[in-house]
Amino acid sequence: MGSPPGPMLIFDAHLDLAMNALEWNRDLTRPIEEIRDRERSLTDKPDRGRGTVSFPEMRRGGVGLCVATQIARYVAPDTPLPGWHSAEQAWAMTQGQLAWYRAMEERGELVQVRDRAGLDAHLERWQDGRGTSGAIGYVLSLEGADSILTMRHLERAYRDGLRAVGPGHYGPGVYAHGTNASGGLPPAGRELLREMEQLGIILDVTHLCDESLRDALDCFRGAVWASHSNCRTIVDHNRQFSDGQIRELVARGAVIGAVFDAWMLVPGWVRGQSTPERAGVTLDTVIDHIDRICQIAGDARHVGIGSDLDGAFGREQCPSDVRTIADLSRLPARLRARGFSEADICGIAHGNFIRFLREAWSA
Ligand SMILES: [Zn+2]
Repeated sequence: MGSPPGPMLIFDAHLDLAMNALEWNRDLTRPIEEIRDRERSLTDKPDRGRGTVSFPEMRRGGVGLCVATQIARYVAPDTPLPGWHSAEQAWAMTQGQLAWYRAMEERGELVQVRDRAGLDAHLERWQDGRGTSGAIGYVLSLEGADSILTMRHLERAYRDGLRAVGPGHYGPGVYAHGTNASGGLPPAGRELLREMEQLGIILDVTHLCDESLRDALDCFRGAVWASHSNCRTIVDHNRQFSDGQIRELVARGAVIGAVFDAWMLVPGWVRGQSTPERAGVTLDTVIDHIDRICQIAGDARHVGIGSDLDGAFGREQCPSDVRTIADLSRLPARLRARGFSEADICGIAHGNFIRFLREAWSA
């Protein structure tokens, strides 16, 4: 008699693990209750005491593979957004984040996945030790490219394992313009995309404003995904993709990660006032977005999970039936209840992003 099967493998295409470690001062190796307890008296971040992500919770939920970010924004003097006052400071922040990922690798908490052989080896390891003490695989990505000082720095980052880059984040950027901004790719952005294409770095189109997305799709010929994005038709905001944009991304072979931030799930969310319970935000609301992408694509091969569950929000702003990231393991049953086939459920939970990476890394 074998051991009972663990939860289905979940691939989460967007977590800001290092940001949480270094800027939120969260030791993700600890139990979630302990992380929350140590924040009880803090009010500096909106999600204090309500975080949902830790390594033990990821293992409990079967989240054995993720895309984990480096993130640091440069802001010009007239920009109201928070961020570093020079690109060099932003670069240094990303290097601190890399140092934390390395320390987690040395502890056996994480293992960096950077090529096809490493991906296959990790999946094999996870099948053996999943749900218990195995290292969680992570693909290193960069959310917002302002910290890339020169193309030499991008090459250095690639050697350190960087495999996906989102050129923009919020507001105007050095290489691309992001959420709530407008404008096409500046020359520096075109140079960045050329260099990414040569290195084989995946273009993450999440957060690109409409004009920068248009330019990026026109000039980049490499692999494209959207790590954490939902549907504009359901929640009308420029952070979301229109049906036409989704159609175009599908045609490019993209996989889109459904994001769990409540304001992107239901219309009319008011930050700090709405609650997931009153707004009726559950895993089924996430499936509404997943289902729409499937309807547009005509199949279930272009959508996955990009939860962003540690993206500066916690239980106050995520589906009410997600107490911790371990509850991602409830998604397969919810998909089943909505009529998705077993093959499609596996694809959404992990298979689509894994197929994408195998193809992107086969060259
Ligand atoms: Zn984001």
